[in-house]
Amino acid sequence: MRICARCDKPIRDGETYEVRHIEAASGPGGTVFLHAWCKRIAAAQPRRHPNH
Ligand SMILES: [Zn+2]
Repeated sequence: MRICARCDKPIRDGETYEVRHIEAASGPGGTVFLHAWCKRIAAAQPRRHPNH
């Protein structure tokens, strides 16, 4: 089952989602999935810690 990395809810068959490959600094990394709308929400949010 695919789980959305943004909202931690399952992505059902037929739902629009995006596959994203993650490169972890300390690990093998992996592949995550995002609902299409979760991706839009994430992109619209400004960074809270720009200096971090
Ligand atoms: Zn989601």
